[in-house]
Amino acid sequence: MDYIDPHNHMVSRTTDDYERLARGGCVAISEPAFWAGFDRGSAEGFRDYFRHLTEVEPKRAAQYGIQHYSWMCINAKEAEDVKLGREVIAVLPEFLDRPNVLGVGEIGLNKNTPNECTIFEEQLALAIERDELVLIHTPHLEDKYMGTRMILDMLAAHGAKPERVLVDHVEEHTAKIVLDAGFWCGMTLYPITKCTPARSTDVIERFGTERVTVNSAGDWGPSNPLAVQDFIFEMRARGHAEATIRKLVHDNPLAFFSQCKRFSFTPRS
Ligand SMILES: [Zn+2]
Repeated sequence: MDYIDPHNHMVSRTTDDYERLARGGCVAISEPAFWAGFDRGSAEGFRDYFRHLTEVEPKRAAQYGIQHYSWMCINAKEAEDVKLGREVIAVLPEFLDRPNVLGVGEIGLNKNTPNECTIFEEQLALAIERDELVLIHTPHLEDKYMGTRMILDMLAAHGAKPERVLVDHVEEHTAKIVLDAGFWCGMTLYPITKCTPARSTDVIERFGTERVTVNSAGDWGPSNPLAVQDFIFEMRARGHAEATIRKLVHDNPLAFFSQCKRFSFTPRS
C-alpha cells in the first residue's frame, strides 16, 4: 500500500533506510526540524541544518522515488536558550518560502518551561501571521498531559485555526482533548515510549479516523523508520478495511498537507 510518513527525521537515517521505506510503499515523507542529537552553538548551525533539510534530503529521497518535504523551526529543547531561539526565528523566513517546506514545526514543549513557552508563542505568531501550517511536538511521558494542555491553551489564546495545526505524539490520554478542540493529531509509533502499532490501533478503534495520522518519527535514538508499515500490518490483522487503513496512512496526511499552497504531491499513477 502506498503511504506517507508525516514525521520522519531522515537526516539521522541511512540511505539504506530510504530504500527500505520505498520498498515498503512509502511515497512521501515530511521531516520536521528538530534537535540534532546535540545543542547547536549558533543560528548559523541552524541555517546549515535548514539547507540540509531543504536541499540535501529531497535529492536523497528522490533517488528512491520518495517525495520529501520539511518544516522549519527551532525545537523546544534548544528553545530553552531564548536569545538563540530569537536568532533562529529571524532566519526562518529565508526558508519558509522554499517549495518543499510545509510550514512551521515541530515547535512545542519539552519540559514545559517558561522559556520554551516564550519561543513556542513567538514561532506560533510568525506562523499565524504568514498563514503557515503548524506541526507541534508534545512532551514525553510524565510531562505529556500537562504540556499538551498548555499548548492547547496557547493555540486558543493566539486564535490558531484548528484545521491548520497538527498536534503530534498524542497517546491514549491526550488524543481526545486534541481532537475535541478541532485539531489534527499524529500518533508516533515508537518501539518503547510513545505509541506502539497495537496501542495506536486501539486509539483509532476508540476515537475514529477523522483528522488522525500515524508516523514513525525515526530519529537518532531507538526508533523504527519503517514503523508505519508495522501499523498497516496490525490494522490488517485486526480486520480493518483497506480503505480505512489508506485513509489513515495516505489520504489524511495528504488532506492536511494539501492546505499548504507550496505542497505539490504527485500520487503514483
Ligand atoms: Zn520529531
